[in-house]
Amino acid sequence: MSQAVEQGTLYVISAPSGAGKTSLVAGMLRNDDKLGVSVSHTTRAMREGEQDGVNYHFATRAEFEAMISQGDFLEHADVFGNYYGTSQVWVRETLARGRDVILEIDWQGASQVRRLIPECVSIFIVPPSPEVLRERLVGRGTDAPGVVERRLAEATEECRHAVEFDFLVVNDDFDIALADLLAIVRAQRLRMGAQQPRHRRLLAELSGPA
Ligand code: GDP
Ligand code: ADP
Ligand code: 5GP
Repeated sequence: MSQAVEQGTLYVISAPSGAGKTSLVAGMLRNDDKLGVSVSHTTRAMREGEQDGVNYHFATRAEFEAMISQGDFLEHADVFGNYYGTSQVWVRETLARGRDVILEIDWQGASQVRRLIPECVSIFIVPPSPEVLRERLVGRGTDAPGVVERRLAEATEECRHAVEFDFLVVNDDFDIALADLLAIVRAQRLRMGAQQPRHRRLLAELSGPA
């Protein structure tokens, strides 16, 4: 009989656009091969350098709406006038195979996921100041000036929801913020609920006969 696989942990990461979430998540994946990231579906236009199926699954509004009615999404939301959504099947199957999964989603999606999967671990990332956020969004050079302004305006609303998350990470120095994120993952793996099934025999040996 096949041994039951321990369910992976679901990490939900949100941040105002430009805070560094995508770069930090890429850093987490480079450092930890037990982590995987969910590739969202979106109706926004592809940016230069992005690849369909890698950064996002790009879809038309009609395709996205058909997927909503088929129940394909674990969560979905309208962010800056575009749809974004997380694949239900991919996330559930990957967690069932024992892998940890990261969702890079907005606060609305995070609150839906918290209701559906209460054991998820949620992390909010902030820039060190509003000025730095603007510099990063402009400096990234991927969005037209109007889009940058819209994203900055929405950043305030996103940040109002920071306190709903389990952890807060300030992305000032990139390497420190990355180490903070990896520390959160490491601490989760050391929780008694996760360790006890792995070390049942050791704990029994050390505890002596009943
Ligand atoms: P970036 O965050 O500046 O790189 O901009 P993106 O266009 O990649 O993402 C826009 C927003 O959509 C962000 O707030 C994300 O957190 C959010 N987002 C991305 N994927 C998803 C998703 O699958 N579900 C939800 N709810 N939000 C998402
Ligand atoms: P998000 O996915 O949250 O929108 P990105 O990962 O695209 O953010 O980061 C926005 C920009 O800021 C990118 O150009 C990235 O290289 C830069 N950046 C991210 N973190 C830092 C940091 N700690 N210091 C300086 N620049 C950063
Ligand atoms: P961007 O268009 O810059 O790639 O992403 C903008 C915002 O959309 C980011 O804040 C990102 O977190 C959010 N986002 C990306 N994918 C999803 C998703 O699948 N669901 C939700 N709710 N938000 C998403």
